[in-house]
Amino acid sequence: MIKDRFGREIDILRISVTQQCNLNCPYCHREGETNIEPVMSPAEIAKIVSSCAKAGIKKVKITGGEPLIRKDICEIIAQISHIPGIEDISMTTNGTMLKDTAQNLKKAGLKRINIGCDSYTSSILEKTAHKIKSGIIAAKDAGLDTIKLNMVVLKNVNESDIQNMIEFSKKSGAILQLIELIETKHNKQFFHDHYYPLKGIEKELASKADSIETRSMHNRKKYYLDGAVVEIVRPTRHEFCANCRTLRITSDGKIKPCLMRNDNLLDIVSGIRNGIKDNELNNQILRGIEKREPYVR
Ligand code: SAM
Repeated sequence: MIKDRFGREIDILRISVTQQCNLNCPYCHREGETNIEPVMSPAEIAKIVSSCAKAGIKKVKITGGEPLIRKDICEIIAQISHIPGIEDISMTTNGTMLKDTAQNLKKAGLKRINIGCDSYTSSILEKTAHKIKSGIIAAKDAGLDTIKLNMVVLKNVNESDIQNMIEFSKKSGAILQLIELIETKHNKQFFHDHYYPLKGIEKELASKADSIETRSMHNRKKYYLDGAVVEIVRPTRHEFCANCRTLRITSDGKIKPCLMRNDNLLDIVSGIRNGIKDNELNNQILRGIEKREPYVR
């Protein structure tokens, strides 16, 4: 397994396949991307993943924008699934188009799915709630395992829905992932108005939990309570960056060593388009890994 300069093992690749999205969540970090540039083809994505697999990447998370906007999303997954060394492919989606695609995604090789679900009663997702709900059912029927519901907890929007969401996730057999809002250049006012620290919730869950597990990724805690499973993602904790195992690729083919930074990107797709040799591409991936450093706020 490859480590970066800070001794962090890198085995996860988070790859954005588009910046387009059919929702317009006012807080979205857009995976730290700002430019709308042409996206990579399935073959270009597969070439990059293949090179990352040689460096030790084992898991691929597909993100966006909204990945299901791409008509060729199943082809992207199918190509990745044939790459030696890749053991797991997952996707994060807003779930609104999942109902009609879940079966084909599974057939193509998708194993797990995260569905953005900032709660059914909050105003932001009220209009799309029914689509997301049928997407969750379709994901289950297709045999996607595991299903996680991503709930970014927002003050004065959905913080009072946490208990309902725990119940809902329990009923639907999904893991609830409570996520602390990340501040970006583009959501400063929203962050100021709606940031909700999860420290208190975490304490409460710890006192109620039947058992607690710590994941190596970000040192995240997973709480098992009365049939429900709740994971807490708190990017403000020091351990978050110290235990980050993820290399990122932008939708326009650049290595992005950190979600929060855009000053250390490394363009790799241009090399592929200019016929770069495989060993040079492998070296570029290693150079990208070398650029990783824990984010200092
Ligand atoms: N459209 C897809 C989706 O909704 O999952 C993929 C892209 S979205 C950027 C990926 C995930 O990032 C979302 O599920 C949401 O939970 C999380 N997210 C977006 N903006 C965030 C923010 N400002 N702070 C914390 N998490 C955020």
